[in-house]
Amino acid sequence: SNSLQVRFAALTFRQGSNVVFRYRMAGMSPKWVETTERELNYPRLPPGSYTLEVMARNAQGVWSAEPAQFNFQVGRPWFLSWWFRVGSVVVVLMLGHQLWRRRTRRLEAERLRLETAVEQRTGELIREKKRLIEEKVRTEEQNRQIEHLLADAQKTSRFKSDFLANMSHEIRTPMNGVLGMIDLLLATRPDSEQRKYLETAHLSAHSLLTILNDILDFSKIEAGRLDLNEIPFLLRPAIGEIEKLFAVPVANKKLRFVVSIAADVPDSLLGDPDRLRQVLVNLVGNAVKFTAKGSVEVAVRLAKPAPEGAAVELHFAVTDTGIGIAAEKHELIFEAFRQADGSTTRTFGGTGLGLAISTRLVEMMGGKIRVESAPGQGSTFHFTARFERTSAEVIENTTPVASLRSMLEAVGGGNGNGVAGHGLKILLAEDNPVNQHVVTRLLEKRGHVVTVAESGREALDCAGRQSFDVILMDVQMPDMDGLEATALIRERERARGSHTPIIALTAYTMKGDRERCLAAGMDDYVNKPIDAVKFLEVVESTAAASKG
Ligand code: ADP
Repeated sequence: SNSLQVRFAALTFRQGSNVVFRYRMAGMSPKWVETTERELNYPRLPPGSYTLEVMARNAQGVWSAEPAQFNFQVGRPWFLSWWFRVGSVVVVLMLGHQLWRRRTRRLEAERLRLETAVEQRTGELIREKKRLIEEKVRTEEQNRQIEHLLADAQKTSRFKSDFLANMSHEIRTPMNGVLGMIDLLLATRPDSEQRKYLETAHLSAHSLLTILNDILDFSKIEAGRLDLNEIPFLLRPAIGEIEKLFAVPVANKKLRFVVSIAADVPDSLLGDPDRLRQVLVNLVGNAVKFTAKGSVEVAVRLAKPAPEGAAVELHFAVTDTGIGIAAEKHELIFEAFRQADGSTTRTFGGTGLGLAISTRLVEMMGGKIRVESAPGQGSTFHFTARFERTSAEVIENTTPVASLRSMLEAVGGGNGNGVAGHGLKILLAEDNPVNQHVVTRLLEKRGHVVTVAESGREALDCAGRQSFDVILMDVQMPDMDGLEATALIRERERARGSHTPIIALTAYTMKGDRERCLAAGMDDYVNKPIDAVKFLEVVESTAAASKG
């Protein structure tokens, strides 16, 4: 321990309280210190050798002869000893070294970890790159395959279109025969029972033709081979015709048929009146078909206000009070071959194509179609269509003078001896015997004289030997087709400076057919199966025009 407590005493016999001491601590201070206290305290002495000397003086002032001496030493504590210090330094150094080694090891481990991670990632990236390259190669291969398939598909689609064109020819030609023959039989004054059978046969053949036309129309639209016309027409008369068309079923069912066209809807439009009529006929036909009592209404208004001169968007609504359509069927009925209720086919007939075709046609006319209906509440089919405007004069000049109805009466009322003033000399180039017969009889009934050629080559010869007012040219014939025969006739005529009108008769109603016929030098174009009224009108007006 490094603290010292000292008590001292001096022997005297008198006035002991007057004894004074003095002391000094050699090794700390060389000076004597006087005190009356008898106790000294040295708390924390530094290590070292010390000598404490104490002297006493009695009351008479006499100092003791010799000082009392106390030698002692304060030792060093172990933690201040040199070996401890050296040891400590060594331990600290060793600890430091150890720490440093641990840290280096940790850093090294971290470095290794990072290196492996980098290596791993690099490996992954390389693999990824390889995979991407493989993927690219695969994609390129797939693209090549897709292009190949696409080319194949386009080829198949072309085959399909050709197949359709042929089908149309193959099916319409005999249909033409059936309908024509029934027409001719009806004109032979059958008795009333025979007339009834013939009319039923006519009706059946006609509905077959309607179905056929639906399927062909739909396929043409699907093949992208249907073009809309851009011709001037009058809206109100076009809609009026629809009313006439349904006059009989509407009267039979005692329905009320209402047409309302808003006053601000312009009349003179530019567009495809036949396709607009087709949509309306389909919607009105359905409305009449599915309505047992009440009314069918056609309403036309502007879809949005149209400034003077700009294109107009019209809104059409066909409303009936019929059986209605459940909400979950509202989308389905616009799909091809779909009907709201499978049993409707049995009850009402129909192919389920009408609305699919209408949807496409409306889209082609820049509009949309939708239905609003609930079972038992009737239905309203809405659609819009865009038309350019045109002036009324343009239409007057393009509308045929003879009205359809008067022509119909002329044909129907014929007595077999022809109509005065109609003795045209006509060359008919047609290889199909049924068609030859139908067309010849129809023309002869009108008082025309018909020469038949069985092929294009024969027609060419006939036209060379004799002059005709009109040549009717079937397009598809063996030996030499109608287009080639026409081109050769035109070539010969150029040398002579003459021109005989040539009208194409074709069951091809595909996009581009009309252009092909006109390009070959033909003057006009009639579709088979022929509509007797339109056919005669075209033949006679073409002949009249060429005679001037
Ligand atoms: P189709 O009349 O030849 O069957 P559509 O495509 O014209 O084909 O019509 C599809 C179906 O939509 C019809 O079979 C009928 O179920 C339903 N439908 C169409 N119009 C009406 C309507 N006005 N009232 C009730 N159902 C209708």
